Amino acid sequence: MEQESGSGADHVAMRWNGWGDPRKAKELPRAVRTLLPLLLGRIRRPEEPVSLDAVRIDDSALTAEDLDAFRSVVGAEHVDESAEARIRHAGGRSTPDLLRRRAREQRVPDAVVRPAAHDEVRACLEVAGERGVAVIPFGGGTSVVGALDPDRGTHHGVVTLDLRRLTGLVRLDELSGEAVLAAGTTGPEAESLLSAHGLELGHFPQSFRYATIGGFAAARSSGQNSAGNGRFETMVTGIRVATPTGTSNSGAHPARRRGPT
Ligand SMILES: Cc1cc2nc3c(=O)[nH]c(=O)nc-3n(C[C@H](O)[C@H](O)[C@H](O)COP(=O)(O)OP(=O)(O)OC[C@H]3O[C@@H](n4cnc5c(N)ncnc54)[C@H](O)[C@@H]3O)c2cc1C
Repeated sequence: MEQESGSGADHVAMRWNGWGDPRKAKELPRAVRTLLPLLLGRIRRPEEPVSLDAVRIDDSALTAEDLDAFRSVVGAEHVDESAEARIRHAGGRSTPDLLRRRAREQRVPDAVVRPAAHDEVRACLEVAGERGVAVIPFGGGTSVVGALDPDRGTHHGVVTLDLRRLTGLVRLDELSGEAVLAAGTTGPEAESLLSAHGLELGHFPQSFRYATIGGFAAARSSGQNSAGNGRFETMVTGIRVATPTGTSNSGAHPARRRGPT
């Protein structure tokens, strides 16, 4: 089969300093607002959130040569140094992450690079390795363990590799039910692509709407059907991983199959 693309329908930009689609934001019900101080005692009102354009960030630490090297891999339009992109990729969605986003000064990656294919990811890692730039892979951005913090360590700069352009159903074996999905495919996209073939992924963490196949695998995610279907790691039969020194393939066959072998 030809690769089937994701619909992109659920790629509504998440609220930059919160959770979910800002057009559907809801107030806490009055009853909950009344109950909370009774349960928790008097709560100091948090600082008002800052607007995205009021956030102050450092200039990008990348050199013109660094930027050109990434541009030569993914195209100039997919190397984003804008303040908005850098702020939107400054971390995950844990409570500390969200509280940090209320500050006027924020630590952000030096650029956001958006590869569209496995070979581009590999080439970006090669460039980063050669030029001493740290890389943070970024799927749906829903991490709650600080895994997306833009730490540059001993490197002179840090880029976020936003993988959401790698989307779609790459291959499907309808007999065994084994599907190959691109790393940046979100939960809803995967379900919609598979349902066209009468199949389902059946992995439903609470972050389903935004989280991606690559993020599920990297974080060994579990969801509300995991008691029956197993955690994500038990659903994975193989992974192709781009590394700075080449490609690593692990696993190749479904753990179980129907019919004669
Ligand atoms: C409201 C909310 C509810 C949540 N509910 C659940 C839940 O029910 N169950 C659960 O398990 N988790 C849950 N989480 C945590 C999080 O959603 C999961 O860990 C999810 O699997 C992360 O996927 P992501 O695509 O958003 O990855 P990201 O958050 O973007 O990245 C997570 C980690 O994976 C790495 N990564 C991402 N993509 C790739 C890739 N393609 N290749 C290599 N590395 C990659 C990142 O560098 C990072 O280290 C929740 C989070 C929130 C905010």
